Amino acid sequence: MKGYSPNISNLIQAFAKFPGIGPRSAERMVFYLLKCPTPEARRMAELIMRVKEQTFFCEQCFNLSEGRTCHVCQDDARNRNKFWWSKIRKM
Ligand SMILES: [Zn+2]
Repeated sequence: MKGYSPNISNLIQAFAKFPGIGPRSAERMVFYLLKCPTPEARRMAELIMRVKEQTFFCEQCFNLSEGRTCHVCQDDARNRNKFWWSKIRKM
């Protein structure tokens, strides 16, 4: 990115790696971060790392989960027949 400082240029290039985000959108995201209050930017950074480090696949259904089993599998009240795999088994 021409004309930007290395930190800004690096962040634009990093955001541009997201699917559907081109260099112009990445640039707008960086400008948003520069304008927003510091706590909001810090929260976004923390949320990204929390999702990255604390998201797993459920041991039972392979849905995304924050623990060994997902919230659906932990909920005994749920009707498990609603899950897509149970529909496949009935075919
Ligand atoms: Zn599950």
